[in-house]
Amino acid sequence: MKFKKPLKELKLSVPSQETSVSNFLTASGTFHDGDLLLNMKGLRLISEENDPPPSESKEMDLQISLEDLETIKVIGKGSGGVVQLVRHKWVRKMFALKVIQMNIQEDIRKQIVQELKINQASQCSQVVVCYHSFYHNGAISLVLEYMDRGSLADVLRQVKTLLEPYLAVLCKQVLQGLVYLHHDRHVIHRDIKPSNLLVNQKGEVKITDFGVSAMLASSTGQRDTFVGTYNYMAPERISGGSYDYKSDIWSLGMVILECAIGRFPYIQSEDQQRWPSFYELLEGIVAGPPPSAPPDQFSPEFCSFISACIQKDPSVRASSLELLSHPFIRKFEDKDIDLGILVAGLECPQNFQK
Ligand code: ATP
Ligand code: MG
Repeated sequence: MKFKKPLKELKLSVPSQETSVSNFLTASGTFHDGDLLLNMKGLRLISEENDPPPSESKEMDLQISLEDLETIKVIGKGSGGVVQLVRHKWVRKMFALKVIQMNIQEDIRKQIVQELKINQASQCSQVVVCYHSFYHNGAISLVLEYMDRGSLADVLRQVKTLLEPYLAVLCKQVLQGLVYLHHDRHVIHRDIKPSNLLVNQKGEVKITDFGVSAMLASSTGQRDTFVGTYNYMAPERISGGSYDYKSDIWSLGMVILECAIGRFPYIQSEDQQRWPSFYELLEGIVAGPPPSAPPDQFSPEFCSFISACIQKDPSVRASSLELLSHPFIRKFEDKDIDLGILVAGLECPQNFQK
């Protein structure tokens, strides 16, 4: 594998007994974790500005093979397929294996796998790492970083609502992930929703399924055909117009408002728990007034944040970068709020029925 700049060599200390990056070697003898690349020649640090160009992402192919992985249990099901908790046989590291069934033509399959590799080659600590993606037996498989507290949807099922300080900390991390996707990678996520925001016991929140909805859409040649839900979709997307990064911001605002009020924002009140019909929902998003945070229940900073996100006109909606310095995010920055403590008390997602 060649890089534009020479790699810096590091000295390896004696590996600890515990499984760690330093003893994670596959049959191919290579492991790549973040900025670390480990192979038979030793540990190397990859320069941060140096994403391997697409043609050089082939090394990623060699890291993990399906035979190296043993299934522990199914941890989730989505519209596209199943997510399993798997363990690497040799190094005992856990991964989430997402398998999406797609019987598609070979040329489209090659294109999709290639796109996934390019999209997922570089990493940001607020985006779930995709270690490997491949096409096998009519399915696309993704070997993902395992997030041991499941998704924000799993968390919400247990806590119903999140208080503002926790929301600010969660939101800051999602915004950092979005800044990376929007400004560094120039991509729209397109499917920001509670089940695509994953949490681990350290209290880290990471965006997942980046590139997946685009992949599913491109496999049919039609945008947005495979969307699992329209609930969080921005009005300009629903009405079929052009859309950009700002459509992710609408979705983020909807997710955060849902976490705060404990119900999907287009359900009018807690008493009226009736879910709107598909057409009522689309009509509500496109033609109705945008939802907002009730000022008698939330701080002015929070209400202002939600209003900056949930603007029907995308040109008025704030960007991910602007929101990162919004007063609501800044308000709790020096308060040492630990999301890890909140999720520590919750049941592990794979232990309860969905
Ligand atoms: P949809 O298919 O409509 O997008 P979804 O996002 O819930 O819905 P999947 O992406 O297949 O569907 O994920 C299903 C569930 O699996 C998630 O809700 C989450 O609980 C779990 N999950 C997915 N990826 C991981 C991961 N990397 N680590 C831990 N759990 C995960
Ligand atoms: Mg998902």
